[in-house]
Amino acid sequence: MLFSDVVAQIELSSRLREGIRSGKVAHAQLFDGAEGSGALALARAYAQYLHCTSRTDEDSCGKCDSCIAHLKVQHPDLHWAFPFFKKDSSGRSISDPFQSSWREVMLDGAYVGQEEWLNKIGADKKQLFISVDEALEINRKLGLKSFHGGYKVLILWLPEAMRVDTANKLLKLIEEPTDNTVMLFVSQNSDRLLATILSRLQRVKIPRLADEEAAKGLAKFSGISEDQAMGWVHVTEGNITAANRLAKSGSETPDLELFSSWMRACWARDAEAMMRQANEFAGSGRESQKRFITYALHMVRQCIVGNYGAESLVRLTPGEAAFLSKFQKFIHHKNVVKISSQLEAAHKDIAGNVNSKIVFMDLSVQIHMLLRKDAA
Ligand SMILES: [Zn+2]
Repeated sequence: MLFSDVVAQIELSSRLREGIRSGKVAHAQLFDGAEGSGALALARAYAQYLHCTSRTDEDSCGKCDSCIAHLKVQHPDLHWAFPFFKKDSSGRSISDPFQSSWREVMLDGAYVGQEEWLNKIGADKKQLFISVDEALEINRKLGLKSFHGGYKVLILWLPEAMRVDTANKLLKLIEEPTDNTVMLFVSQNSDRLLATILSRLQRVKIPRLADEEAAKGLAKFSGISEDQAMGWVHVTEGNITAANRLAKSGSETPDLELFSSWMRACWARDAEAMMRQANEFAGSGRESQKRFITYALHMVRQCIVGNYGAESLVRLTPGEAAFLSKFQKFIHHKNVVKISSQLEAAHKDIAGNVNSKIVFMDLSVQIHMLLRKDAA
């Protein structure tokens, strides 16, 4: 991946390249950024730049053998580790059976989250982890001679999925690295890493994208307009990975129409409208149902932000602003926590395959009662 394919992060990218050019390449680094910040994209661009044989100050060349191999996600000196699950009870538990799936995901881009990975490998509700066997395997791979004579790079995605015994096995490698080895740990939750690991990594803090940056990036790789992209970026608070997930799930814009008519029906306890909406909701497929609930949560949050007069924090399209200007007074400190937790519970139920019509009807009745709660 080229640095020019990374969304924004211009200054940080430049610092990373400068570090490589001046030979300051720490052998164990933590690319530390929330989902959607582009930590994995930056790690990939960093690895390619390390290997590129005719890089410029601005970027990898994109044409040398190393770059071509990176582009195909087939560079022999780039090793991948990531969470996976154990397919059966026999044998060692290593990532090999999942490497081709991983490669396919990487060929699609680097803005993926756990949800995309879970879907890809059909893990569904299985617990993903990085096993002790995998740590030994990493030790073995990095102990081999470098194929092209340069750096051997490991990109380890989500080190927070390592178990304690796995982490301890890797610790040795971090403390006593083999020659020309660079380990890039790409974490979304670095606070879950063991302190012993954390303290030995050189941290590269990756900031969240600004809304405008995320919308531009999303528009570029999903083909939707920047205005539409901004709608999704608002819902996900700048998380481009989640925004892309939502944009892919079908609808062109967030579900304002259904949300506003639903809130009206809930307020009025209009059973007929609720039934109609429940049918519409249930007919739309699990992914769009989850997306709608996520959207509803976003709108409820925006009501509270608006109520507290924090205008600069409000993320709304003009249509949403018009609706919320009338609606937001019904969401207040006495009901917001309960409404949010009802929505979160519904999201969980839908993900867990509970009958969505029942979930929606039940949720509507709960929200009716909560909306009718007096703010005073
Ligand atoms: Zn190159």
